[in-house]
Amino acid sequence: MKRRGLLVILSSPSGAGKSTLARRLRAWDMSLEFSISATTRAPRPGEKDGREYFFHTKKSFQAQVESGEMLEHAEVFGNFYGSPKAPVQAAIDDGRDVLFDIDWQGGQQVRESSLGKHTLSIFILPPSIAELERRLIKRAQDNPEVIERRMQESRDEISHWPEYDYVLVNDDLDATEEKLRTILSAERLRRSQQPGLVDVVRNLNSEFEDRRT
Ligand code: ADP
Ligand code: 5GP
Repeated sequence: MKRRGLLVILSSPSGAGKSTLARRLRAWDMSLEFSISATTRAPRPGEKDGREYFFHTKKSFQAQVESGEMLEHAEVFGNFYGSPKAPVQAAIDDGRDVLFDIDWQGGQQVRESSLGKHTLSIFILPPSIAELERRLIKRAQDNPEVIERRMQESRDEISHWPEYDYVLVNDDLDATEEKLRTILSAERLRRSQQPGLVDVVRNLNSEFEDRRT
């Protein structure tokens, strides 16, 4: 049956686990599209242009913003990040869901955008601040100053938790993934996401009519 695509927003303080969870969700459901953001931050070891991010200079990033190509954009930890609009629109028109790994500023902009009616937003909290720091260190992809800055800004990110539809504490990874699957499965069944229901009910009614004659 015809379905409308959802814009699934995942936000959390850096290190709480949203990229890991996003990867697991996609492995569970390959039809889930991942919104690949543009960024001016330098690639981390192992990151590939066009896979994790589209890596840009400040100038080329700004040009995309000015030509209206971004659904949302924000400055995070001193770098610019943004979600290109065209792939999102194409996926939604095609009835596919799109997953966003973006901060609270991006979350607000997507909710307020023309596609905002079809958002599902989930905030991921760490079980403790000590564990958040351990995860940032364990990831071993940022230098100590970058980690320190991210820790300092995590309080501000966490303060936006009430803006989200769902809030999960990512203690046990498998349990959090399971909860995410449950949320997504249920949200896909919302009446507003199933435009095909109109035809289903029309057919049921014409069956009623046939029985009367
Ligand atoms: P984010 O995308 O939110 O910045 P990541 O997904 O990169 O965070 O996770 C940061 C680190 O924490 C990674 O090394 C990841 O493997 C680890 N991690 C994520 N979730 C958990 C969890 N529930 N328990 C233990 N480690 C976790
Ligand atoms: P990282 O540098 O660790 O990949 O991402 C840093 C932060 O930027 C994370 O909180 C991530 O969710 C956020 N981010 C990544 N892409 C985007 C984007 O396109 N827009 C916004 N607003 N935030 C983003």
